[in-house]
Amino acid sequence: MEHFTYTAEFTHPLCPYCSSRVPCDQDDPTEPWIGTCKSGHTAVYELDGEDDNL
Ligand SMILES: [Zn+2]
Repeated sequence: MEHFTYTAEFTHPLCPYCSSRVPCDQDDPTEPWIGTCKSGHTAVYELDGEDDNL
């Protein structure tokens, strides 16, 4: 399974295959989580916490 990181700029990551939003219901998205977009692409997503602008 592919593993992608995304930045905190986006509340939800975008599917790298079809650019659909991938719903995230994780309490701690800095831990890798498995997400499936509306088109059915499944991948592991992980929030990249390096860019901390808050
Ligand atoms: Zn997709």
